[in-house]
Amino acid sequence: MSDHDIRKIVIVGGGTAGWMAAAAFSALLDKAVEIILVESDEIGTVGVGEATIPPLIAFNNMLGINEDAFLAASQGTFKLGIEFVDWGGPGERYFHPFGPHGQDYSGVHFHQLYLREKKRHPLPDIRHWSMSGAAAELGRFARPGPDSRLPLSQLAYAFHFDAGLYARFLRGYAEKNGVRRVEGKIVEARVDGESGHVRAVTLADGTAIEGELFIDCSGFRGLLIEEKLGTGYEDWSRWLPCDRAVAVPSRLPGPPEPFTRSTARAAGWQWRIPLQHRMGNGIVYSSAHLERGDAEALLLANLEAEALAEPRHLAFTAGRRRRAWNANVVSLGLSSGFVEPLESTSIHLIQSGIAKLLALFPDRRFDPAERDEYNRQMKDVFEDVRDFIILHYKATRRDDSDFWNYCRTMDVPDSLAGKLELWRSKGRLFREGRELFGTPSWVAVLLGQGIVPEEQEPAVNAIDAEEAAEAIEKMRVSYRRMAEHMPSHADFIAQACRAG
Ligand SMILES: Cc1cc2nc3c(=O)[nH]c(=O)nc-3n(C[C@H](O)[C@H](O)[C@H](O)COP(=O)(O)OP(=O)(O)OC[C@H]3O[C@@H](n4cnc5c(N)ncnc54)[C@H](O)[C@@H]3O)c2cc1C
Repeated sequence: MSDHDIRKIVIVGGGTAGWMAAAAFSALLDKAVEIILVESDEIGTVGVGEATIPPLIAFNNMLGINEDAFLAASQGTFKLGIEFVDWGGPGERYFHPFGPHGQDYSGVHFHQLYLREKKRHPLPDIRHWSMSGAAAELGRFARPGPDSRLPLSQLAYAFHFDAGLYARFLRGYAEKNGVRRVEGKIVEARVDGESGHVRAVTLADGTAIEGELFIDCSGFRGLLIEEKLGTGYEDWSRWLPCDRAVAVPSRLPGPPEPFTRSTARAAGWQWRIPLQHRMGNGIVYSSAHLERGDAEALLLANLEAEALAEPRHLAFTAGRRRRAWNANVVSLGLSSGFVEPLESTSIHLIQSGIAKLLALFPDRRFDPAERDEYNRQMKDVFEDVRDFIILHYKATRRDDSDFWNYCRTMDVPDSLAGKLELWRSKGRLFREGRELFGTPSWVAVLLGQGIVPEEQEPAVNAIDAEEAAEAIEKMRVSYRRMAEHMPSHADFIAQACRAG
């Protein structure tokens, strides 16, 4: 180690964010760096956060985590996408699959050809041209194959898991790598008057824990980043008015499906996340449009099987911390901001924060250029996620409640308005920078919610319509056949990763 290297990191909080950070740092930083994680059983964790997106596979690989062992330990299942019910309008449903739709043809995006063909002849929903969508429809699962000529290579997946068991699994991993866990409630933090850096946190029993770099994973309150450093919060609730949730686990009514379901309700939406041992359920809603008691009653009335615990209520404000990294404190997880879980992005934002921090890891001189770059990148990734989530609320024809009337008619950020305009005219979408959601995701939601472009881009006209129609049909059949040959999701779990 050099003289300037960070020698001691203190992670404040032991939820998903704290243990993901502890696991990653313990695996990827110099073993001489001391890592301490402080958590309080008395305070506990947020206790939700059970659906993920495909980049988590890269996190597991980076840490050398065996996927089957991780799923067995966390009662996990596979996720091929999200089924959206009643979002465009009551009675409608669509699927947002992971992975691409079809194959591009002569440099033209598949959705352009699909849309032209749909004008000529009736065609089924675009999900039928997604390997993950076709498998999800039949309740099947297999891991993607390496042969890029076969449709199976296009299958993309993520996971559902029990949040508490996932944190426990990562804790075991991190402790094996030398992370020291301290149980206790932090009651004070000492800040150096000159540098403005946090020097130590003090527990209720008077123990002081000193550090050079602090990772604030303390949840919504932001113990260091906000309560101590007063960093400030950018509030996005004018675009994302949901500010409450109520969650409850229930018995599984049947074999777990390989997808999350999101059902729109009059003042928000309900999630349904199948695990190996139970179903995770919850309603995310706007407190300006629905009372707490009514939200709970709505949730309980819509369970498919018996509830397994008392409902748990949560409050939040959509938005992000103005600077994710302030002084020598980097916030990760809920302390850095929150965009509601409609596309299961929060755990990914933790992963993204960890990866960016490793790429811009400071030394004890804390170069402001590293911090500013980190903050710029985190701002971009949060805003990209924000726009994609707002799209789901804005792109609706629902006019059956005050909540939906507000969402349908609200102004949206300029970045999203520009995207919608380009799509509406000729179905064009451009992925900017490191945007998380690519063209297939936007296409799935836009078409799924009934926003159909007026025309196609001129390049489509250069492709013979009959030839394209034949190719489109061949693709659909090949996805379907491949899905039919896969094992059922339940059988796959039983063979590969059933919990002990
Ligand atoms: C309703 C809802 C649904 C969600 N669904 C999803 C989803 O499907 N997918 C997804 O990716 N994300 C989801 N999320 C987000 C996800 O839950 C979080 O990103 C994730 O759990 C990380 O939380 P955390 O570790 O930041 O905070 P927490 O779990 O709140 O952990 C905070 C930690 O800090 C500790 N702590 C706090 N104060 C002190 C103190 N004074 N002293 C010592 N320790 C302290 C606590 O004990 C705890 O260990 C959801 C969030 C909500 C609200």
